[in-house]
Amino acid sequence: MRIFNFSAGPAVLPLPVLEKASKELVEYGGAGMSVMEMSHRSKSYEEIHSAAIELLRELMGVPSNYKIMLLQGGASMQFAQIPMNLKKSGKADFVITGEWSNRAYKEASGILDAKIAASGEDIKFARIPEIKGVRPDADYLHICTNNTITGTRFTTIPDAGKVPIVADMSSGILSEVFDVSKFGLIYAGAQKNIGPAGVAVVIIREDLLENENAAKLTVFLQYKSHVAANSMYNTPPTYTIYLIKLCLEWLKSQGGVSGIQKINEAKAKILYDYLDASPLFKGIADKPHRSLMNVPFTTGDDDRDKQFVKEAATAGFANLGGHRLVGGLRASIYNAMPTEGVVALVEFMKKFEGGQ
Ligand SMILES: *Cc1c(COP(=O)(O)O)cnc(C)c1O
Repeated sequence: MRIFNFSAGPAVLPLPVLEKASKELVEYGGAGMSVMEMSHRSKSYEEIHSAAIELLRELMGVPSNYKIMLLQGGASMQFAQIPMNLKKSGKADFVITGEWSNRAYKEASGILDAKIAASGEDIKFARIPEIKGVRPDADYLHICTNNTITGTRFTTIPDAGKVPIVADMSSGILSEVFDVSKFGLIYAGAQKNIGPAGVAVVIIREDLLENENAAKLTVFLQYKSHVAANSMYNTPPTYTIYLIKLCLEWLKSQGGVSGIQKINEAKAKILYDYLDASPLFKGIADKPHRSLMNVPFTTGDDDRDKQFVKEAATAGFANLGGHRLVGGLRASIYNAMPTEGVVALVEFMKKFEGGQ
């Protein structure tokens, strides 16, 4: 029996995708073999690969002067690969909105002159801090649009003038409409809202590929190598990419990104409205910057939080513990979490509350 899985990532996948994949697992189409067994240079696989990239372009409205890459090493590899490839003046500014943006900042610090443009550390990352200024000669301004652990998100994308904005969208990509042209580079680990683990999507504005410093990198680390090879410079994680394609087809059937955004807003509201009214549970992020995807909350008591996680698991609601760094509780409600899962969770929370 499938249960409701509120994991922050790897996370719930759409049931129709899993069902389709299970039908095609042993033999894909007329290929006589599983996708896992195909040469990545075969026609069958190349079609899957190109379709996944084209679906991303279509669903996100990626302009033609942007390239899309499917890379390995997760979002964490990008913390290093981005400064390596974008370094020109050798300066980059960072908005620290939680653990992941801090890791991006720290990793970049070993590669270039990284500066904190704003930090929400003093307010425990409960909201997005105001950006006081960006160095005009910075190679980029790095932000994390959705903060998986503390449950905040940028509701407006900052204006950095001519400085390209680099965005870690790992947990928010495809959940709401973004104007890609506002960014120099967008990246996301697939395992939150794109598909299973094993791929990082990187979307880069073409002109940023021209970089003398990047040309000195080992060939594998250069974005140019992967763009030129359409993300087949070496063997890509073919089965993950196949599943990504199925997930993107599913997303298209939900009305695309704008369609799922409406569903996500209504879905998150059910949980937030309950948290705002509950005498027991409290949301952690400040209202104006609340995430649509990750909802951290607490009863204010560690033991009671732990008891809730335990009882919820028994009742069929998995992975409701907060991130190990912050504790408390968290429900991740990505695109693939059906509204009925959130409705059922709220019903369960009400019951738990009544028993206290
Ligand atoms: C999960 C996550 C990461 C790390 O992703 P990996 O693919 O495990 O490296 C980075 N940034 C954000 C915002 C995340 O949610």
